[in-house]
Amino acid sequence: MDKLDKDKAVEVKCVRDEYIFISQQPCGSCGKINAYKLHIQHLIHSENRSYDVLETECQYCGHQKCFTFDITDYFQNLEKQLTATLKDRDKDEDLDWNSET
Ligand SMILES: [Zn+2]
Repeated sequence: MDKLDKDKAVEVKCVRDEYIFISQQPCGSCGKINAYKLHIQHLIHSENRSYDVLETECQYCGHQKCFTFDITDYFQNLEKQLTATLKDRDKDEDLDWNSET
């Protein structure tokens, strides 16, 4: 995908950091702060790294801008957490199943 701009990718630790970063960028056209609103989000895996590409649009003038975030670190943590949660849930379901029958 040609939207991926690795050189400009901003490393973030959580989704919240992405939104904070975007809200701090002045619009490239009208210059207003906190102007960009999320339009489309892409998750891209490339060369063992994960990128979140957010296409945004200025809510005042409609100027469109694309932000690229390097989410490799937190995406891997997220997968670990998800796996752990699923394991816990299976365990709980087994217990519930036994108690109900
Ligand atoms: Zn604008």
